[in-house]
Amino acid sequence: MPEMKGGCLCGQLRYMANAEPVFIGVCHCKNCQKESGTAFNVVVAVPQSAVSIQGSPRTYTSKGDSGMDYVRRLCPNCGSTILSEPAALPGIAALRAGTLDDTSWLKPNMEIFCESAQPWVQLGGGMQRFPKMPPMPG
Ligand SMILES: [Zn+2]
Ligand SMILES: [Zn+2]
Repeated sequence: MPEMKGGCLCGQLRYMANAEPVFIGVCHCKNCQKESGTAFNVVVAVPQSAVSIQGSPRTYTSKGDSGMDYVRRLCPNCGSTILSEPAALPGIAALRAGTLDDTSWLKPNMEIFCESAQPWVQLGGGMQRFPKMPPMPG
């Protein structure tokens, strides 16, 4: 895995992550639909310790499906969320895949929270589908 680089829409926030993804997931949860304004989020889960952020993100904390805190880092200028830190997945940062500069290598391996997926969403690629968040791989 080459070093991942990305940033928000306006470029005020930039980040780098130097790690093999723990998983790459398509998340159909209602919060991801609200956050992204579309039908699902694609997240690249990496260790928080591998991520460095340039710029000053705003933080928005809500409750995740687990009832635990779900922290989002977003750009105070353009509003893009660049990553989240779900307390339910300690030590994990979930990069928003659409904010990566290079997505050519991206291949999600599972769909999560399928129970709230919009019914017309049919993704190919033979991904494993889970009604909620499965136990962490590895
Ligand atoms: Zn921005
Ligand atoms: Zn989600």
